[in-house]
Parts: sequence; structure tokens; C-alpha cells
Amino acid sequence: MNCKEVKSLLSEFCDKELNQEKSEALKKHVVSCSECRNEYDSISKMRKVLKKLKTYDIPHDCLKRMKNAKKGKIPSVHKKSSNS
Ligand SMILES: [Zn+2]
Repeated sequence: MNCKEVKSLLSEFCDKELNQEKSEALKKHVVSCSECRNEYDSISKMRKVLKKLKTYDIPHDCLKRMKNAKKGKIPSVHKKSSNS
């Protein structure tokens, strides 16, 4: 993986959208390349700030409702092992 690839994948990596193979390769590169490490640092810091802003933006009540809605959406599935 080269610097260009790493930089294009960094934001996905921060969102944990990369598969394991790719994120491992990316991590390896970031550890050995100070330029990409700086890039990664600034992106992850920015993400943290954005996250904070988002959290403050959403009213508490709204968050609560969203959580409840999520709970309701997923029905509890009972898996039965049946060999028919
Ligand atoms: Zn690099």
C-alpha cells in the first residue's frame, strides 16, 4: 500500500468501514510512514471534534427516541436447531 492509497482510505478507516485486510495494511503503513501518521492524526482528531459537535446538535429527547426505535426494529429471533 502506498501513501496515496493510504490517504484515500484514511477516512474510511476512521469510520471503521474498511475490511480487516485493508485496515491491517493501512495500520502497517501508518506506523512506518510519518507523513501518513500525521495525516491520520489530524483526521482522527477532526472526527472526534465532529462527533462531539454532532452529539451536541441532537437534542437528548431525539436521541432517546432513536434508541427506542432501533430496539423496536429488531425482533428477537429465537434460533432453533432443527434438522429436518
Ligand atoms: Zn505514507
